[in-house]
Amino acid sequence: MKTDEIADYFHQNLSPGSSVHVTSDPASASAITPRWNLWSSPTYVVAVKPALNSDVQKVIQYAAEKNIAFLTTGGGHGYSGTLGAIKAGIQLDMGNFNTVSVDVERNVMTAGGCLTLRDVADAAYAKGKSLTIGMCSKVGIGGATLGGGMGFYSGLYGLMSDSLLSVDIVTGTGELLTASDTENRELFWGIKGAGYNFGSVTSFTYRVQDQPNAGMVMNADMTFKGAQNESIWEFSKTMLESQPAELSLVFAMRYDPEVKDISIVVNAIYVGTLEEGKAVIEPLLKLDPTNVEISYIPWPEAPDAANYKITKITSAISFTNVPHAVNLYSISVKALAELTKHLYNVASTNPAVQGTLVTFTQYANQGFRDNSDGKMAARGRVGSAFPYRQPTVYAQTHGLSLDPSLADALDAFGKEICTMLLESSGQTQLELYTNFARGDEGPEAWYSAENLPRLQALKRRYDPKNIFSFYNPISSGE
Ligand SMILES: Cc1cc2nc3c(=O)[nH]c(=O)nc-3n(C[C@H](O)[C@H](O)[C@H](O)COP(=O)(O)OP(=O)(O)OC[C@H]3O[C@@H](n4cnc5c(N)ncnc54)[C@H](O)[C@@H]3O)c2cc1C
Repeated sequence: MKTDEIADYFHQNLSPGSSVHVTSDPASASAITPRWNLWSSPTYVVAVKPALNSDVQKVIQYAAEKNIAFLTTGGGHGYSGTLGAIKAGIQLDMGNFNTVSVDVERNVMTAGGCLTLRDVADAAYAKGKSLTIGMCSKVGIGGATLGGGMGFYSGLYGLMSDSLLSVDIVTGTGELLTASDTENRELFWGIKGAGYNFGSVTSFTYRVQDQPNAGMVMNADMTFKGAQNESIWEFSKTMLESQPAELSLVFAMRYDPEVKDISIVVNAIYVGTLEEGKAVIEPLLKLDPTNVEISYIPWPEAPDAANYKITKITSAISFTNVPHAVNLYSISVKALAELTKHLYNVASTNPAVQGTLVTFTQYANQGFRDNSDGKMAARGRVGSAFPYRQPTVYAQTHGLSLDPSLADALDAFGKEICTMLLESSGQTQLELYTNFARGDEGPEAWYSAENLPRLQALKRRYDPKNIFSFYNPISSGE
């Protein structure tokens, strides 16, 4: 199908507030949402920014009828390798769905489908409210919420999807539906954890909470040497069972060629006073880190402040990132010490893999537990398709580089590390958070074997032509 034909159709059929961009035109670059990850990224011939729900319906119906691959784009920070299957497709950029409002009395926030985590954080904070957001302020609420969405409030509130009250969605059948605890309940269940498989969400409505501690949190970044690694893993192991709900932890390990050693940066965010926060991380401070930076800041600033502001810097630049991930339900200090040694041995002798960053993210389990299917049912509410609610360390490798030719080496090394991690945990089955996936793990690993039949039934009902199939897809099962 010719690019001009596609662009002409949209020009003629969409409402005046919409815009259409031919991607070969250099001027289009500033008008459409860029992709953060350059590895295995989709290619488009046309990008379209619909203005109304009815425009979204027209784009989806057209793409389905003409059999043209398309991707709904929220924040553009999705990085699964499955996205690379879109060649010469249509970018359905949600950029015009950009309003946010907070109803202070009802504790409800309604946000457009393209907004970023920072957008909703600022809007909530301005009204004295809070909600879970992830650890990168430029990530879209779209991708994050539809896969779950976790961050430093998760120990208290659970996932972003746990706070969802309703969505407006244009499904693969072209229907515009509201899904909530009272309407299209089964679809609402699937949207919370596997949502990008069923349609384009134009509007998300969340429950927000009065912000604890007047909206202030402690951000602490601490750097440790490779030789200190076992003490760090001991701390992680202890926290897996006893982490305070107010505390979130990210351990980030890499080989640092400048000092020729392993470096471990621990980020701790505490929702509470500075004194309480410092007391909770006292065991880490006593280990005598080589560097410590502690600040006391409004909560929307935490993702940008964390890890010495590195996510703020890296999330604004397009990267080659080859990801791998595995959920760990137990910590073996001995195995992690061996892994640390292995990272040192390989990365110190092979510069091609020195962009490998290994991270371990931990939240208290309270927020996940409080929103389990059983607890939700007791409140007359719909549970969710997010499958993994037990105490979990979310382990990831990020194969980061500005040089795309290193992708294969980083990919192989990341896979090797995640295989070692899986073996270290004693699990045989790979399970992982879908938003952290590389894309080759398969739907059982992302959504669980238990949930798949239910999700496949939803797929048959709401996306029978399988047009929402480019991001960790579920097949219809037929
Ligand atoms: C630097 C970085 C840090 C991260 N940190 C965290 C973290 O702390 N916690 C966490 O949970 N996740 C985190 N993530 C993962 C993140 O949640 C996912 O990458 C997420 O999918 C990105 O969403 P997006 O809208 O920005 O991306 P996009 O690439 O725009 O979208 C990703 C997927 O969601 C779909 N989608 C997006 N918007 C909509 C919509 N409105 N309607 C329907 N489908 C939509 C897209 O079609 C695509 O399938 C991080 C990612 C990065 C790059």
